[in-house]
Amino acid sequence: MPSSVDNEDYKFQNRIGSRNTPSGSPSVVVPNNIDVAQLELETHQAQNFNDAATMKCRGAWMVKGSALSLNTHNRIRNIVEALKINPNPQKSMIPLSIGDPTIFGNLKAADETMKAVLRSVESCKFNGYAHTQGHEASRVAVAKYSAHQRIGGEIDPNDIVLCSGCSSALEYCILSLADRGQNVLVPRPGFCLYHTLTEGLGIEVRYYDLLPELNWRADLKQLESLIDENTAALLINNPSNPCGSVFDKEHLLQLVDICERHYLPIIADEIYEHFVFPGSRHVAVSSLTREVPVLSCGGLTKRFLVPGWRMGWIIIHDQYKRLGNAIIGLKNMCGRILGSNTIIQGALPEILTKTPQSYFDGVIGVLYSNAQLAYKLLKQVRGLNPIMPDGAMYMMIGICFERFPELKDDTNFVEELVNEQSVFCLPGSCFEFAGYMRIVLTVPSSMIEEACLRIAEFCEVHYKKDIRDQIEENLLDNPQINY
Ligand SMILES: *Cc1c(COP(=O)(O)O)cnc(C)c1O
Repeated sequence: MPSSVDNEDYKFQNRIGSRNTPSGSPSVVVPNNIDVAQLELETHQAQNFNDAATMKCRGAWMVKGSALSLNTHNRIRNIVEALKINPNPQKSMIPLSIGDPTIFGNLKAADETMKAVLRSVESCKFNGYAHTQGHEASRVAVAKYSAHQRIGGEIDPNDIVLCSGCSSALEYCILSLADRGQNVLVPRPGFCLYHTLTEGLGIEVRYYDLLPELNWRADLKQLESLIDENTAALLINNPSNPCGSVFDKEHLLQLVDICERHYLPIIADEIYEHFVFPGSRHVAVSSLTREVPVLSCGGLTKRFLVPGWRMGWIIIHDQYKRLGNAIIGLKNMCGRILGSNTIIQGALPEILTKTPQSYFDGVIGVLYSNAQLAYKLLKQVRGLNPIMPDGAMYMMIGICFERFPELKDDTNFVEELVNEQSVFCLPGSCFEFAGYMRIVLTVPSSMIEEACLRIAEFCEVHYKKDIRDQIEENLLDNPQINY
């Protein structure tokens, strides 16, 4: 009998089988080409198992979330949802908290970027599954676009893995390098996603400190002291969210040196690689070493202002094949969800070559002038210490808590700031760095200005002069009093 007929029989019996079976008991389907005795035996065993399970623990609904899912937390969401906020109804809300540059409409994707997607749809060529690493032509495009990351400049398209956003790129890298019980070194302050991706799996994150007084360079001694035989990778985020700092070549070489001495691969979150302000330059860490393997994670999200398109990638830099079977593992990871969105893959070659430089310059111009404006206004505010960023789209602002004794900590500070002034900043705790708050620089500049004036007013209201200030003022007011 031809197999197609066989299949027809199977489907037919399947339908009859389910219709004739009283609801609640499993339907037994007997394809006519299977040993019936064997099937009965298996069915019998399955039913026994079900009965036993029912008697033991199935007396009621007892669905449980998996350990992984229950141990996965997004710190920003948790902290923000727990805040007690009640914006001042007299003042319009200014959210300086949201890391999505598209929400205010002042920053838009380039026409060329969007047209590339229209053409991808119209071609009808990108509706099917792609290779799990991504279509060849799309990977060739990313390889060319990223050639500056490689000594020698040539990247093999097999070294490119297309992912659903940079987040999924980071997830694949971490999961292919680290097992339960191992640890990954991540920056503090740092993007909370690293923690979200690892904790449920029992992979430990160990925080190395970034030092605000040194332009947010890593504390190399402390970093090196964290490394042990279970350290799977060093994760660096350059330029940094939330700091907006950009590591120079010298500092990157220091980090590479540590990795070389400890045989540690680097996961480089370089999603902001092109978001660098005039006067600074981003150097890809992979361009500085052949010795240390680097998995560089990037994507369209920030530079092209299309976070919702979920297109990111991993570039594997491993010239001496030191990642061994971790590369097989990494490629296996792609099989879990069968690759990323193919419509955007189809558009990638055009997006990456046709979006004009003037567009990128315009976006950087907005970010930079917002950074300068916010810095200038906040620098004058007593009790605050803004740190001028060199890139990315954020600014960290230190808060001198001795000067604000009524405000307990950074979360309390941002709560009261919303309640009084309807300006919402993210507390540093979201990035493991209490004592600071982070603002985004992607909002319209009129909003930045208004927000900074309100922050200044808030700080003036809560600012507590110290004894010396009071003595000086009293002396001026009442020169006859002798202290
Ligand atoms: C925004 C961001 C990402 C995530 O990018 P997606 O492409 O949206 O997944 C990764 N790392 C950092 C540091 C980010 O700020």
